[in-house]
Amino acid sequence: MTYQTVKIKTSSSPQTAASILVIYTGGTLGMVYDPKDGHLVSFDFEHILERMPEINRLDFELTVVTFHELIDSSDMKPANWTSIARLIYQNYPHYDSFVIIHGTDTMAYTASALSFMLENLSKPVILTGAQLPIGAARTDARENLITALEIASAKLYGEPRVPEVCLYFNSYLLRGNRAKKIESAHFNAFHSENYPVLAHAGIRIDYQTPFIRDYQPERTLLLHPDFDENVAILTLFPGISPRLVESVLRTENLRGVVLETFGSGNTPTAPWFLNCLREAADRNVVLFNVSQCTGGRVMPGRYQSSRFLQEIGVISGSDITTEAAITKLMHLLAKENNPESVRWNLGRSICGEMS
Ligand code: ASP
Repeated sequence: MTYQTVKIKTSSSPQTAASILVIYTGGTLGMVYDPKDGHLVSFDFEHILERMPEINRLDFELTVVTFHELIDSSDMKPANWTSIARLIYQNYPHYDSFVIIHGTDTMAYTASALSFMLENLSKPVILTGAQLPIGAARTDARENLITALEIASAKLYGEPRVPEVCLYFNSYLLRGNRAKKIESAHFNAFHSENYPVLAHAGIRIDYQTPFIRDYQPERTLLLHPDFDENVAILTLFPGISPRLVESVLRTENLRGVVLETFGSGNTPTAPWFLNCLREAADRNVVLFNVSQCTGGRVMPGRYQSSRFLQEIGVISGSDITTEAAITKLMHLLAKENNPESVRWNLGRSICGEMS
């Protein structure tokens, strides 16, 4: 993979507060209007200081690595997640923190994937983007990017304030694997329903320290670069047909399914449906139960319909988001051969993605 790298020294003082590696993958944030035809085109980071002169007032040393091909995040694939994680891993000793500029559409998936790929992370990795391009008059790109950089460089007694994968958007810092895109028209694009915000940026940036992961620099960063793509998400709805359920569960080479269930983890109780699930479980397809509700959690066995799921070994996703669930499943299936250990790890929190 080839990248374009630009170094930007913002500080006038010889001692910079932080060195940050910015990874620019694409998305709306980095777009400007082409003066020739008025179309939106990707912006060249070499000109960031012309667009955002306020960056000059910050006390950072920025290195911007631009993806060879900038992508709309709807085109993100696990291979792109791996490229981002490798960049972080290879540059880990050389930078204090990492900021990833990313389209909003799949940012929560990338944030979740990175949280599983970077085991023992003890430096900030902050994803951000924008609803309006940097070239638009009312853009949210400026505030989002500048505050993400500030948070990435923030230290308390020499320790990073947020040594984990986070997503910063519209004044809120969220745990990456708890965030969900909830809005496509207004600026409040992301929300974390089941975990408190990690920081709120007003006049000051208020960090909610009890909810932020502990800084553990003695642990060595481990990279888990692989994902198994033989997975599916099966969203239930009243009237779902046997043909649809069968065709998903009998997909060739299928190894895992996120079942998006009703309420606190309930499914239809029709015998054909339960038989399909049992048959998949017997073929060692790992089934992960995630609720369609954004708030609350899966409560295995609370209703009769979910009792059966427990019996056949469906794992409860508790209060996990679908974005974190599918990336966790792909990560564990690539890491572990034994379905039993995949199930065991699915049911526990690996990096704060479920409670
Ligand atoms: N479709 C764009 C993307 O996700 C939307 C955005 O950046 O906000 O890349």
